[in-house]
Amino acid sequence: MKKTVFALAAAVALPVFAAYPDKPVTIVVPFAAGGPTDTVARQLAEAMSKPLGGATVIIENVGGAGGTIGAGRVAKASADGYTLLLHHVGMATSPALYRRLPFKVLDDFEYLGLVNEVPMTLLGRPSLPAKDFAELRKWITDNKEKVNLANAGLGAASHLCGMLLQQTLNVPLQTVPYKGTAPALADLIGNQVDILCDQTTNTTGQIVSGKVKAYAVTTLKPLTTPGLEKLPTLDSQGLKGFNVTIWHGLYAPKGTPKEALDKINAALRVALKDAKFNEGQEKLGAVVVTDDRVSPAAHKKFVASEIDKLGNAIRAAGEFAD
Ligand code: ASP
Repeated sequence: MKKTVFALAAAVALPVFAAYPDKPVTIVVPFAAGGPTDTVARQLAEAMSKPLGGATVIIENVGGAGGTIGAGRVAKASADGYTLLLHHVGMATSPALYRRLPFKVLDDFEYLGLVNEVPMTLLGRPSLPAKDFAELRKWITDNKEKVNLANAGLGAASHLCGMLLQQTLNVPLQTVPYKGTAPALADLIGNQVDILCDQTTNTTGQIVSGKVKAYAVTTLKPLTTPGLEKLPTLDSQGLKGFNVTIWHGLYAPKGTPKEALDKINAALRVALKDAKFNEGQEKLGAVVVTDDRVSPAAHKKFVASEIDKLGNAIRAAGEFAD
């Protein structure tokens, strides 16, 4: 009797996933709309729609607590292939920063592939007196805790970059957390906060149009992105070895059926080769992943290694980590 019920269930389940997706797919972005993660997600959603059979791919912004609220929402969502998560390096920083993280990064998600790598830029409010990084460094050292460093919460990319900056300069600053760096950048432009370290996917346009002061890039080599070529590296400005490049990956709740996972991964692979997607990413300084980290197993292995590497960096940063 039990056997019959099982066989029937399997017969019913198969056609459902053969038809996947037959309704809109939601990608949760764990930060505010209009910011760098949101921008990557929206370009990706557009590129994935066609290979997902023309499905509508919706973005839902669930910001707060460095991305952990949105990630937690997806970890607990129905594992049916209709709720996905586009998250960044915060997946790997959060285990070392949160004592009660509401999910297990390596156990509660299906890994769908890495999307891109993105450099960051160090920006200042337009009214800041410092003209270059040497002057900024002096201004920071002179003003210490009076300096407001905006970020997108504990564990965000902007937090990671700001934490390493404080540790390297050995100066504790006043951090101001936002639900994402879209509102943080708006406040920086409005002279409400002093400095912000943020992905080029958010900052390129504002740097090029001169709305903010741009001091440096966080990579070891200068960027070739139009408008950012002249920005010096922090490494060349006396912060030897300073190197922060963040990444984004796609996830589903643990237990999502393999048929759906395979279709999403196949759609992701098509999207990452899409000409319009590549053009959009390149313009914003992002490098689309072409290596095997687009495979779920290699993506998961990479995140596990980042958890170790960044966990060590966070523990070494000690008092500067929060
Ligand atoms: N750039 C943000 C961060 O610092 C996230 C965002 O708003 O997309 O992690």
